[in-house]
Amino acid sequence: MSHSETRASHIVIVGSGFTGMVCALDLLKAGYRVTLLEAGREPGGLTSGQNFGDFTWDRFYHCILTSDASLLSLLDELGLSNKLRWTATEVGFFSHGKLYKLTSPLDLLHFPLLSLLDKLRLGLGTLYISHLSNGRKLEEIPLGPWTQRIFGKKVYTEMWEPLFRCKLGEMRHSASAAFLWGTIRRLYSTRENGPQKQEKLGYVAGGYTTVFKNLYASITARGGEIMTSTPVTSVASLANGSGQSGRVRITSANKQIDCDGAIITAPNRAILGFLQTDDVTYTENLSRVQYLGLICVVLVLKKPLSEFYVTNITEESPFTGIIEMTNLISTVDETAGHHLVYLPRYTQFDDPLFSADEDSVWATFEPALKHMHPSLEDADISRRFVFRERSVQPVPTLGYSRIAPPAATPLAGVYVANTAQIINNTLNNNAMTEIAHAASRRLMQDIPPTLPATANSSQADSILVTLSEQQIAFAGGGRS
Ligand SMILES: Cc1cc2nc3c(=O)[nH]c(=O)nc-3n(C[C@H](O)[C@H](O)[C@H](O)COP(=O)(O)OP(=O)(O)OC[C@H]3O[C@@H](n4cnc5c(N)ncnc54)[C@H](O)[C@@H]3O)c2cc1C
Repeated sequence: MSHSETRASHIVIVGSGFTGMVCALDLLKAGYRVTLLEAGREPGGLTSGQNFGDFTWDRFYHCILTSDASLLSLLDELGLSNKLRWTATEVGFFSHGKLYKLTSPLDLLHFPLLSLLDKLRLGLGTLYISHLSNGRKLEEIPLGPWTQRIFGKKVYTEMWEPLFRCKLGEMRHSASAAFLWGTIRRLYSTRENGPQKQEKLGYVAGGYTTVFKNLYASITARGGEIMTSTPVTSVASLANGSGQSGRVRITSANKQIDCDGAIITAPNRAILGFLQTDDVTYTENLSRVQYLGLICVVLVLKKPLSEFYVTNITEESPFTGIIEMTNLISTVDETAGHHLVYLPRYTQFDDPLFSADEDSVWATFEPALKHMHPSLEDADISRRFVFRERSVQPVPTLGYSRIAPPAATPLAGVYVANTAQIINNTLNNNAMTEIAHAASRRLMQDIPPTLPATANSSQADSILVTLSEQQIAFAGGGRS
């Protein structure tokens, strides 16, 4: 073997949700060898698809904004631009027992629950926030008092406070003003950009299942490997004195891979369970990020519920809002004529509904939905599903930037690209595309795409060992 021979650096990616797949594509395009290890039975994570009977759609609701430039560019690269569909959608507002349309400034003008002065304050306050450029400063300011200062007591108690209670639960008290800033900025961003210069929301025909099919095809065509049902239980550095040539050892239930680097895309709680580091500051920061969990009832209906894609709710309700997906996506092309409704409940990790049976969850949700939509009858519901995830939405608490994990970890060659890195923005795949690109770039600065093929390159390249039964007994489970 000549000294000029090289081999591709081998990078393992932990998690094959959207972020892991984008990292994989970045690295494969740059000439790395990539293996994805996924705890679940299929790639997809929070964007995975669900068979709803006659059709498949996303397990959780997703839409694309015209301003999602990084995501749209990725979709274009995947050959999906011609599968993008854009729809003008309506927004509803359920307050004091009544459902109102609140899509346009004209709707706001007719909205009976606020005086003209309050409406003016709502409009001007929103405009003011949308023009603030520095979200970092807002991270130091508690959300509630700041919102009340800007909008006044009436608008705050009638609209914002109940919305915060809905979206953040008890965590609204620890959230910073950057939460509202990020939400309003994302919504306003669609007004300035986009193909139609109109407020339309988008989706890919077939949903994220289509996106994943194309990601999967692009990754495997470039030689990337995806191993599912493989929860990682340990990520350790081999850099110092272990005598191994690979720098990082990844252990899962029945595999051990020594590789040149890794990108972890799992949530912080999972990372805390497997990253082998003594850096207490680092692990404390990981554990200080608070996540909201999600319990989501999904209904397949025989008739539409409303004209609204999103209905915000400002009274006590077991769910946070109503997302009627089929007011965005075509019932003809996508859902075989069915109507698809999501009832999300963003909630704390220890919510008893996480362990309740599905009928009990529905029994908690049903009266409120029928109160909001009295014409809904049991016979209108074809199928019902409940999806639950404990670590979904990192809460932008005071000073959040100081605890958000950086791309680099204390372990040489190990990087993180996860949702906790979204700073002052809502959870969305445009941000995750950028976070994935940033982590890939950071890794590329430290680890070249090819390394010399040394005499022991067969070990350095990767060692795949099937562990004995006793070792398997130590293996934990992936996502919690
Ligand atoms: C209700 C809801 C609505 C949303 N709406 C929108 C929207 O309208 N627009 C938008 O752009 N985005 C939306 N999002 C956000 C979008 O779904 C996320 O940005 C995206 O799914 C995050 O992907 P990820 O890969 O970072 O994380 P995840 O999808 O959580 O992927 C992490 C992966 O890591 C795996 N994993 C965890 N632990 C281990 C382990 N130990 N070993 C191996 N694998 C492991 C998990 O199984 C998972 O597959 C929404 C999300 C939700 C929940």
